Amino acid sequence: MQTTSTSSIETIYNVDQFRTQGHELIDMLSDYLSKMLKGDEVPVLPNLSPDTLYLHWNQKLKEQQIFHFPSLIQDVLDQSLHLHHPRNAGHQVSSPAPLSVLASLVSDLLNNGMAVYETGPASSVMDRIVIEEVNKVIGYGPESDGIITSGGTLSNLTALLAARAIQAPDEVWTLGTQKKYALMVSEEAHYCVDRAARVMGWGDEGIIKIPTDDQFRMQVAQLPRLLSEARDKGIEVLAVVGSACTTSTGTYDPLNAIADFCEKENIWFHVDGAHGGAAAFSPTHTSKVKGIHRADSITLDFHKMMMVPALTTGLLFKNSHDSYRTFSQKAQYLWAEAEEREWYNMAKRTFECTKRMVSLPVYTMMKAYGMEIFGEYVDTCYALAQTFAAMIQAEPQLELAVEPQANIVCFRFVSAGLSPDQLDALNREIRVQIVESGTFYIVQTQLRGRHYLRTTFMQAYTQEEDLQQLIALVCETGKKLTT
Ligand SMILES: *Cc1c(COP(=O)(O)O)cnc(C)c1O
Repeated sequence: MQTTSTSSIETIYNVDQFRTQGHELIDMLSDYLSKMLKGDEVPVLPNLSPDTLYLHWNQKLKEQQIFHFPSLIQDVLDQSLHLHHPRNAGHQVSSPAPLSVLASLVSDLLNNGMAVYETGPASSVMDRIVIEEVNKVIGYGPESDGIITSGGTLSNLTALLAARAIQAPDEVWTLGTQKKYALMVSEEAHYCVDRAARVMGWGDEGIIKIPTDDQFRMQVAQLPRLLSEARDKGIEVLAVVGSACTTSTGTYDPLNAIADFCEKENIWFHVDGAHGGAAAFSPTHTSKVKGIHRADSITLDFHKMMMVPALTTGLLFKNSHDSYRTFSQKAQYLWAEAEEREWYNMAKRTFECTKRMVSLPVYTMMKAYGMEIFGEYVDTCYALAQTFAAMIQAEPQLELAVEPQANIVCFRFVSAGLSPDQLDALNREIRVQIVESGTFYIVQTQLRGRHYLRTTFMQAYTQEEDLQQLIALVCETGKKLTT
């Protein structure tokens, strides 16, 4: 393979070299993928410290050797968390479908910025089509709309900025925040909702945490009391955020009940469906998001349960005109309404100016496999969680935190005679040993102040046998540590 140490512009844009390196890269990635899908003999997460890797990459950069692209990539492959591994049960990021990865590569080459139509004609239009198709599945009507944005965090912030622009009585955009505002969200919600309130300058009082029930669902019955308490303090509640589902336990809030409350009180209803909004694609699980179509806005991460690379998020709006109000003054908005909305100039409505062409992989998936593929994927992953939970319940030394509603399962090893603090420490250590062994990758979470092991099943091809092995490994490690 050709190597070079010169960096003249001519060399950089040598197309023959691109072709050769590209073919070689795809071959490497294909070999990697087939090894990962089998999962044998490969640690899910290589056990390497940050300092070791820092040294490695620093030395590499300074080495006098001739540049060799495949070696660089091989090192990256060897040192990464292997999301495609069937025994990766850690976080909620997808193991992208190979075809969606190829589509994503096209975005890197074309680099169309998407801010206005001219800077990304095909992909700007794809944004709209993807949103329209997803909105139909959600149950939104023809007056719905939305944008594609970079991640659930940014999407939730954008939705809440829209809520503020529309619900706040004063002209926040021009005059700044004049009053005290707040949002209501369950205590189990993703931290980015809390962060969004603080970014908007609402402070501690700007986030009203609603207690959850024994299954970690928002206690909707508490909303009226907490709303009047806030009003007594001169705080105006602009939005309620429902989780569909929560990140920690995969629990769905009762969306219809929240919608009833929001309609009655004229409060914006936002659904954070970053992970579990995709249940709408599955005839089996769609009842979990019953009432989602009543939300004013919805966040849905395609890079979680829709098998495409990060960051790809849909921010859906029930009413198209709301999506144009996020970043405009009230007066300016009226003017824009009177003129033309220009749906194809995306940056009018997105936080980003330049944006990757991220709807291309989603569109490709829809075209290649049909919309049904997303429901099938949800079904398979959610079923893995059910199977795993049943295995936990059959094992006396394991305790299930809550019956899983999605593909997230929290549990822990228990041992008679240990104090709650000792149990926390024990489970922390079990995870360390399992992850260091490379056999599985699992994560952890705090529930009601106690430590739990947390698993998310994102690989639709993970086998029951893999799940059994994880159960055995947790029990074995727990027993070893307590004797
Ligand atoms: C993952 C997640 C987020 C954050 O989304 P990013 O795409 O990681 O920014 C927000 N809310 C929920 C419920 C999530 O699961």
